[in-house]
Amino acid sequence: MIKESAGKISDELYALGSPALPAYLLVGKTPVLFDAGMTFMGPLYLRELKKHLGDANRLAYCFLTHSHYDHCGAAPFLKENIPGLKIAASSLAGEIFRRPNAVQLIQSLSQSKEEANRAQIGDADVTFRGLELDRTLEEGDEIVLEDGNQIQVIATPGHTRDAVSYYLPGLKALVGGEAVGSFDRNFDVHPVFLSSYGDYLSSLEKLSTLEINLLMLGHFYYLTEGAQAMIAKAIEATTVFGRRIEEELNSLGGDQEAVVKKIFKKDYVEKRLIKQEERPFLINLKAQVKAVAERK
Ligand SMILES: [Zn+2]
Repeated sequence: MIKESAGKISDELYALGSPALPAYLLVGKTPVLFDAGMTFMGPLYLRELKKHLGDANRLAYCFLTHSHYDHCGAAPFLKENIPGLKIAASSLAGEIFRRPNAVQLIQSLSQSKEEANRAQIGDADVTFRGLELDRTLEEGDEIVLEDGNQIQVIATPGHTRDAVSYYLPGLKALVGGEAVGSFDRNFDVHPVFLSSYGDYLSSLEKLSTLEINLLMLGHFYYLTEGAQAMIAKAIEATTVFGRRIEEELNSLGGDQEAVVKKIFKKDYVEKRLIKQEERPFLINLKAQVKAVAERK
């Protein structure tokens, strides 16, 4: 079953923040938060952590799926406000968080959301000024929490180069980030291979070998049934979209900009398929056309 990412998912897992930008909380003796939404959500997370954990300071770890501003934004705020909280992500994400231009980009993308959500922020300082990780993760790392829960790290590049997914074998649950894509308005899988088409497909092939009863997506939904089928659909959707871009590139003489315009007009304007704001959708589409044009 496909469910909106809000509130209680199971006895062990909760979705925090907004369904559009869920962070997933694993409760238990050693609570873990997966992803940290946008900067403005920091104070909201503190309130929700208090609600679910009794004391927000119990949060032990925050594991990030990738370095996009809508997945890591509130991580520095949480680190400042929760003593002892350890933040982990891939080593490449760690490098990105130290680059001044990347920090600046996260700040600039976060700004309009901060302005729109002033009331929610109050007088808290949520500005993203960089992030020093407490732990860097690699493919195959296995974290055994103090309460025995296990988290396996699966490198899933393709959406971004620094993307990882987290598999909880005890719960047969996957925090997929955006490696599995997202749903469009018809619940068809919309692929998001921004950094590499080939890597994105290989990552999906890797995920398709897992036994998954619960799949938590990077945006809007989680699945309690049909998770494995969704990964198979994502592989198909990726291949189909890749072929479509390739055909458009061929028919438009390799003009990437023209291909972006044509697909945007059809999918976003005419069919109104996409549940995403126009600007990020266009930035992503541009990257996807480039990824297909440059694939080897
Ligand atoms: Zn992303």
